[in-house]
Amino acid sequence: MLTHEYDVIIVGGGVTGTSLLYVLSRYTDIRKILLVEKYDDFALLNSNSSNNSQTLHFGDIETNYSEEHAKKTKKAAERLLRYTEALPKAVKEEMIRGCQKMVLAVGEDEVELIDKMYSKWLKELFPGLIRIDSEGVGKIEPNVVKGRKTGDKLAALLSDKGYMVDFGKLATSFANGAVGGSNGRADVLKGVKIDSVERRGELYVLWSGNESYKTRFVVFATGAYSLFFAKSLGYDRNLSVLSIGGNFYYTPKVLNGKVYRVQIGGIPFAAVHGDPDITNPNITRFGPTVTVGIQLERRHSDTILDYLRTFDFDIKTLESLWNIFSDKDIRRILGRNAIYDIPFFGKHSFLKNEAAKIVPSIKHGDLKFANGVGGIRPQIIDEDKKSLILGAGKIVEDGAIFNITPSPGASSCLESALEDAITITKQLGAEFRKDDFENGLGLI
Ligand SMILES: Cc1cc2nc3c(=O)[nH]c(=O)nc-3n(C[C@H](O)[C@H](O)[C@H](O)COP(=O)(O)OP(=O)(O)OC[C@H]3O[C@@H](n4cnc5c(N)ncnc54)[C@H](O)[C@@H]3O)c2cc1C
Repeated sequence: MLTHEYDVIIVGGGVTGTSLLYVLSRYTDIRKILLVEKYDDFALLNSNSSNNSQTLHFGDIETNYSEEHAKKTKKAAERLLRYTEALPKAVKEEMIRGCQKMVLAVGEDEVELIDKMYSKWLKELFPGLIRIDSEGVGKIEPNVVKGRKTGDKLAALLSDKGYMVDFGKLATSFANGAVGGSNGRADVLKGVKIDSVERRGELYVLWSGNESYKTRFVVFATGAYSLFFAKSLGYDRNLSVLSIGGNFYYTPKVLNGKVYRVQIGGIPFAAVHGDPDITNPNITRFGPTVTVGIQLERRHSDTILDYLRTFDFDIKTLESLWNIFSDKDIRRILGRNAIYDIPFFGKHSFLKNEAAKIVPSIKHGDLKFANGVGGIRPQIIDEDKKSLILGAGKIVEDGAIFNITPSPGASSCLESALEDAITITKQLGAEFRKDDFENGLGLI
């Protein structure tokens, strides 16, 4: 049996884990940092470009965000943007590209909602965001207007400061930047799955088969699995996750930029939207759908048991589920989305209820189900409040952090890394050069 010892171990090589590795290795004096990833490469799950919507979320076109959540998201997105701006041009172009974006309001109620939000706080928080009417939409995105019923009231909030991001490439860039610039303090192990974790005195011991890894501080950046590990240590029994899968459909390119739809406030996931694909300029992606699953990893039925363990059913869980599903908007969204998974009929229904609401002239034959595409959003249930939490969650314990990361987790990865770095250095009595981080972020 081999034992390895570290100051900090990060489990998970998606964008959350790699950004933390980058920040710790560049801006702290922590001596031995290890990142462990179970697959053979970084970001093969939710951070992979095929499994998410590739949107750098700022909070300007996400009508389900509160003002407070939008402010936080904007700050985090600007930080990430700053990192990418300093990358060499060729690397940057593959990882992030600018595009226009809009939130489209269809019908009196939606138009009224965006107008209210725009005048109340969006306009001030996002000075580049402009309100356009039906004619304006037609000039920017002709296919959104073409073939639409003439009676439909239409308006949009438009920004030219949209970005599509390959978060998988971003993760690789963080990891390479960390290992390359750390003078041997940061290391990465790929293809090593952490099976379990235990607390021994001041240390945590992580097990992978017969090998063990001892550490003074452990961070789980394992997406939906983070809560699984937290619960295995007896931490935070008041949280559960709804495992929300999302599918996508492809069409030939019909949009010039991102077109989001109005989502009702308080619903933690975006309504289906149309997006360009950073990896393929000839297509438009429509999605993600909202499918409640019982897995911690998409298309991995071997994770069902772990999901059930994470769910940790008790009376509070049942009360929370009852409360969540009593919300008629959530029931309507989930019910409609459940139909999209039915063969043939599902596609027809998706076309009518979602894709054609954005681009009315799309034909059945244009729409292709994107096989093997779409990840899992671990939407967090707060069993004390008996409701879903908007955005990512963090459980902080003595010597351990667990990051649970639904959208906009990828956009907020550096902000999350900053928070974690502050906690870790405080607990370990290490130095964090916050000013260097703020001033020098991205200078690699
Ligand atoms: C359909 C969909 C659309 C989305 N759209 C957006 C968007 O447009 N913008 C946005 O900002 N966010 C979006 N998100 C959310 C975003 O994808 C996630 O917040 C982000 O990718 C989370 O990154 P992560 O590193 O925390 O998790 P992941 O990318 O899931 O990485 C977790 C890593 O942990 C590893 N791991 C797990 N268990 C172990 C173990 N036992 N041992 C070792 N390694 C382990 C996994 O292999 C994986 O590499 C979307 C998500 C989905 C599903």
